[in-house]
Amino acid sequence: MKLNDSTTIPQLGFGTYLVPPEETAATVGAALEVGYRHIDTAQGYKNEAEVGEAVADSGIPRDEIYLTSKLQNGNHRRDDVIRTFEETLEKLRVDRLDLFLIHWPLPTRYDGDFVSTWKAMLELTADGRLTSVGVSNFQPDHLNQIVDATGLAPAVNQIEVHPYFRNEAARQASHDHAIAVEAWGPLGQGAVLDDATVAEIAAETGRAPSQVILRWHLQRGDIIFPKSMKRERMEENFAIFDFTLTPEQMTRIDALDQGESGRQGPNPDTFDMV
Ligand code: NAD
Repeated sequence: MKLNDSTTIPQLGFGTYLVPPEETAATVGAALEVGYRHIDTAQGYKNEAEVGEAVADSGIPRDEIYLTSKLQNGNHRRDDVIRTFEETLEKLRVDRLDLFLIHWPLPTRYDGDFVSTWKAMLELTADGRLTSVGVSNFQPDHLNQIVDATGLAPAVNQIEVHPYFRNEAARQASHDHAIAVEAWGPLGQGAVLDDATVAEIAAETGRAPSQVILRWHLQRGDIIFPKSMKRERMEENFAIFDFTLTPEQMTRIDALDQGESGRQGPNPDTFDMV
């Protein structure tokens, strides 16, 4: 997919949240063997070094793998942004990162000043060590604040999106600024996999429930990076480009939305863990 800064990103990637460091090199190595070329990690996942190990050991040229990391909540001050970005590059064993995100806006921390954090993130692109800058868990008013202050919109907004929580307000606000949506927790962190409607559509299409859900995301145009530590599931989640959901099947999945009560993760307006 093309981003608003004219770069491109693979629409399907591989997530690494809760992949323990001691299992990350083997897990990400398997994902690269399966064919994933987009890996999503974060300073807070404590597995950047092992992601870097897997990328180095794979022998795949650096420019063929899209790497994302995220600024940890305790690192929002300008000097910490610059310093810890360098640590992220070292851990990942790369001299350039494709995408770096503010992980959470933390509107109740740092005097509500995520604008300064955004400005520091923009500095990172000056010398080519960072290609694209984005945000994560930004609500519509958070996006408006950083765009109003700098005139520069993030390339992506990585937010919780899945059939039980479509998060349309944040998706729409992102699209209004030409920001691509990355849907984290695309399977509802597992919660949507046993859904009866998804099971019906899986039977109709002869596909696995996970494939039906991930295909729904693709057809909505969002970027996804499901996580699994099992190779068969990595393969299953990767095989979603050879079938299509009908508009009627898409609508039935749309109808599973539970609004705020469908949220699996924290609300970004109040989440303040540092
Ligand atoms: P997910 O929706 O990818 O679900 C993962 C769960 O589904 C795991 O329990 C896994 O075992 C199971 N699963 C995966 N494939 C399966 C299959 N084919 N069949 C059966 N079960 C399957 O949840 P996630 O890992 O939280 O989200 C994906 C990625 O998004 C993360 O790994 C991380 O990279 C990112 N993320 C970002 C944020 C953020 O705040 N920016 C928050 C959470 C996750």
